[in-house]
Amino acid sequence: EGPVCECNTCYGGPDCSHFFPDCFADADGGDPLFLEPFWMQHAASSALLVAGWHRMSYSYSDQSSMSEELERHIRKLHAIVGNAATDGRYIVFGAGSTQLLNAAVRALSPENSSSPARVVASIPFYPVYELQTDIFRSVDFNFQGDTSLWKNNSDTGTEIIEFVTTPNNPDGQLNKGVLHGPNVKAIHDHAYYWPHFTAIPAPAHGDLMIFTLSKFTGHAGSRFGWAIIKDEVIYQRMLTFLQLNTMGVSRDTQLRTLKLLKVVLAGGGRDLFEFGHETMRKRWEKLNKVISMSKRFSLQKIAPKYCIYFQKIRGVSPAYGWLKCEKEEDKNCFAVLQTAANITGRQGSVFYAEDRYVRLSLIRRQDDFDLLLQKLNELITGEEGPK
Ligand code: PMP
Repeated sequence: EGPVCECNTCYGGPDCSHFFPDCFADADGGDPLFLEPFWMQHAASSALLVAGWHRMSYSYSDQSSMSEELERHIRKLHAIVGNAATDGRYIVFGAGSTQLLNAAVRALSPENSSSPARVVASIPFYPVYELQTDIFRSVDFNFQGDTSLWKNNSDTGTEIIEFVTTPNNPDGQLNKGVLHGPNVKAIHDHAYYWPHFTAIPAPAHGDLMIFTLSKFTGHAGSRFGWAIIKDEVIYQRMLTFLQLNTMGVSRDTQLRTLKLLKVVLAGGGRDLFEFGHETMRKRWEKLNKVISMSKRFSLQKIAPKYCIYFQKIRGVSPAYGWLKCEKEEDKNCFAVLQTAANITGRQGSVFYAEDRYVRLSLIRRQDDFDLLLQKLNELITGEEGPK
């Protein structure tokens, strides 16, 4: 049998050759399939075959050293990329970084205190921070919105947990924590702190850092993330939660992650990061070119920086375009793109920003990106008046 054809939204028929002109370009969603061609090129070396009798045990009774080997590979990866300090720090695994986000909130919250920790983030921020904190409502913590509300309040004695996303989803900025003081703890979400998406100016060295396989190799469905933790007590608290929540991370997932890491590390990461960065850089360049012809739309500005991994300043390459509708009347930029150009992005309000903004995903498959570009081009070349 030949390969099964997965048509995108604009094509149909048995071989995906039938074009639907009224179709929508899908720029929603953060599925990182831009890395699929890399894994096609490395199909054999990354393949895994597991016999039915293999690795049946719970992880706590599995005598093999697979988890230790995986942890060693993660430390090696960070040493090669230079994106995080791991020496003298603890590492825990999670079911994606999503599980670790809440494990971290719990571990940093006081126990049985009369004042629950305030969990905050800087707008625009990844909405799961709030949604997850709310759904796991607890007497120990609750979500309290934008950091700016607490800038002058960080000495009230109540613990504050600040989510710091570097680079940020949706706007790609290398955010730093904005709240400081003895009662402020940060959760550094480094989902996108890889050379595909940003220059790596220095190793991250936060007390609690979270990484994920999802945006690094693109295997979002495997659900693997890890946290790098400085403080032993916090590490133990996270471990206890993860043990009670899912009794550790799937051994199948750990095995697959290890296999993928071995492929990445074989060439010192060069193959993957060159491919990842070049793909994202080209997409950003093309998007910028189109948007720069428009008076109606603008994109975020990201300053190029020296990257210690590539040892040079390289082109900017964010995971998302954070598009702004500049006209006073275009208050709902999502609707503007939907109705005028058949483009589905994600509303600014999802990230607690104005709906004058819309996020465009640049990490999907190439055909999704090409369609997005084509539709933007049509819309912008049709703009009236002097450019
Ligand atoms: N943090 C950020 C900033 C993200 O954008 C995402 C995924 N979109 C995640 C965490 C969660 O990723 P995962 O659970 O797949 O590791």
